[in-house]
Amino acid sequence: MNIEQVDIDLGVRSYPILIGPDLIDDESLLARHVQARNLLIVSNTTVAPLYLQRLQHSLGERRVGSVILPDGEQHKTLESMALIIDALIEQRLNRDAAVLALGGGVIGDMAGFAAACYQRGIDYVQVPTTLLAQVDSSVGGKTGVNHPQAKNMIGAFHQPRCVIADTRVLRSLAEREYRAGIAEIIKYGMIHDAALLDWLEQSAEALLAREDEAIMYAVRRSCEIKAAVVAIDEREQGLRAILNLGHTFGHAIETATGYGRWLHGEAVAAGMVIAADMSRRLGWLHEADCERLIRLLRRFGLPVDAPHIGAQRARDLMGLDKKVLDGRIRLVLLPQLGQAQVVSDYTSEALDASLRAYFD
Ligand code: NAD
Ligand code: MG
Repeated sequence: MNIEQVDIDLGVRSYPILIGPDLIDDESLLARHVQARNLLIVSNTTVAPLYLQRLQHSLGERRVGSVILPDGEQHKTLESMALIIDALIEQRLNRDAAVLALGGGVIGDMAGFAAACYQRGIDYVQVPTTLLAQVDSSVGGKTGVNHPQAKNMIGAFHQPRCVIADTRVLRSLAEREYRAGIAEIIKYGMIHDAALLDWLEQSAEALLAREDEAIMYAVRRSCEIKAAVVAIDEREQGLRAILNLGHTFGHAIETATGYGRWLHGEAVAAGMVIAADMSRRLGWLHEADCERLIRLLRRFGLPVDAPHIGAQRARDLMGLDKKVLDGRIRLVLLPQLGQAQVVSDYTSEALDASLRAYFD
């Protein structure tokens, strides 16, 4: 089977994303794309027993160390990041070494941040093992950890040297985690590519069955769309915010229900339904477009309704979100399917009506 390649064009920081089955066993591919002779693999207690040995074996003659962190978002902390730095120092790794992240978004964010900081920045390679990490967190260069008071508050922009997305490692992923990743793929269709929505409708069965070719297409298109947006706006001055479709409403859901009750992708799914509803009230999307989104989300077993936490509570929680500018909540809305816009001059009636419809 051919592999897919997406080239992220960021001048001297350009890098390839390679997508295909069993890439972690592909010695010649790894030899071509992972140049460092000294590597530290960062993984966790769930993923390492499944894939660490295979990956180590394929890295051949290199000097490869590893550090295995506890699993979970609650461990995405400065303390875990310090363990990575400790391992780099203990193994006497220098500026020519690279960090290799083997895991989901939590591991990728932490390993990337450690690489950004160690000796003021060394190379890192992403081997994302969740669908969410393959379509979202491994691309774009945002790295970091959580602060006890707030998520992703400490971090840096640091682009990887290469992303190796092995479609087969997704087979061991929990069904709910896999479907949550699909929510972000639907998001890319909604903001940038109506044809991707057509494809998702036609290929739902193959994607749910985790067929290699379906995953390869979905990951490739997602990365291309994220890359196109990030290339225009690498450090989130404006356009990059459209990647947050559904996230501000979703953030209210995640916070109100306690982190972990709703998976991030599930909250984004419900959040997109609310954003679509509000876009319809502003005279942008048609009723049929909203229904189409709901049908698609349902097809993938994703939530299409919000928990009834109250419109006022939702409003308060959204107001605390870091996407606020000049006291007004900027929202990502949809002029039409496949096109998104960051809006702050919407009518408050439309926002109120949508919040009441979904949260009351
Ligand atoms: P995660 O890394 O916690 O992985 C989810 C679960 O799946 C974990 O228990 C993990 O151990 C397990 N797992 C991973 N791969 C597996 C596999 N192949 N088989 C079986 N189990 C496996 O969560 P995630 O959804 O991948 O990532 C979420 C994180 O990503 C959040 O911290 C979020 O802030 C971050 N994120 C970052 C960006 C970015 O641009 N940097 C973008 C989106 C999300
Ligand atoms: Mg997201």
